[in-house]
Amino acid sequence: MKPGDDKNVREVTCKRWFLRKSTGAIVLYPWIFYRGDLTMAQRYIIRKHEWVHVEQIHRLGWVRFYLTYLWYSMRYGYRNNPLEVEAYKRQYL
Ligand SMILES: [Zn+2]
Repeated sequence: MKPGDDKNVREVTCKRWFLRKSTGAIVLYPWIFYRGDLTMAQRYIIRKHEWVHVEQIHRLGWVRFYLTYLWYSMRYGYRNNPLEVEAYKRQYL
């Protein structure tokens, strides 16, 4: 799945950001929220990353995705969460 493939997804840029500075975007399906102060280069990479999560949501179903995501985060931490490992690996492809 490539960015834009799921027509239900709404990509929104947020002027005010309530999450930590290190978070560039978040997928709350069917929305993707992007921090408003990203450079074009950052946004390009982050968008690919977030769309890997959209694909994972299609693969698992959104309930299973979010439960699995939470479980993996508790078990492995953010960066070693297998769903993040996949997204980080594929964001540069
Ligand atoms: Zn991610």
